[in-house]
Amino acid sequence: MEWTEDSSLATRMLRDLGDEIWIDKHLPHVTELVYCLTRSWYQRRKPLPFTPREVLLFTTGVGLEGVLLKQHKQQIEGVLDGIGYATDFLTYEGYPGEMKTTRLSAKKGPHELPVTWMRQMLSYLRCNKDDRMLLAVLHLMGDYAPPFPMLKVWQGKALQWEIGMNWAWMLMRKDIYMASLETDTPPEQFTYNEPWECDNCGYKLICDANQAIKDLKGG
Ligand code: SF4
Repeated sequence: MEWTEDSSLATRMLRDLGDEIWIDKHLPHVTELVYCLTRSWYQRRKPLPFTPREVLLFTTGVGLEGVLLKQHKQQIEGVLDGIGYATDFLTYEGYPGEMKTTRLSAKKGPHELPVTWMRQMLSYLRCNKDDRMLLAVLHLMGDYAPPFPMLKVWQGKALQWEIGMNWAWMLMRKDIYMASLETDTPPEQFTYNEPWECDNCGYKLICDANQAIKDLKGG
């Protein structure tokens, strides 16, 4: 058999997958407040197609979650203080669980994982009125020695002040975000995000241009 690479078909398949990503969520939603507010604003108001990299990472995560969580998938959805949430699953004991897929090394413990995950989980604890959390992390590359998928599961217990402080932070973000939507002005670029979020972000060119204009005007 002879093979010919068909990159145009690959592009089309990624585009079709990208069309499936956007799910209309309650405004605002935990996930859009946890991650870059500027990016969330653009996704609501002036969405660009997802980049191939974003599509691939998203679909890998969703596909694996669908299989791994099939047995006890009980997504708990609701709204608290005007913020929508959807907890990934409930454990056998009935407390919230979150499933993540990452290329980060399995050598990393929970405290070295993205702070955005922690904010998201503390938010779900507040929404579910619990302090116990299960975090299941599928490390796509394992510990890179050699690269091979590895599943790690962590039991967490949060302190009430951690849950409370995180929720106060979320409410502050909600106010900023909703005001920006009302005034139809995106939140200031490079201000409401973690620096790594800009890597491979589809809105980076727009943010760079807005920052250049701001710098020209003298900040
Ligand atoms: S480039 Fe950075 S600041 Fe701009 S939308 Fe993306 S993540 Fe947010």
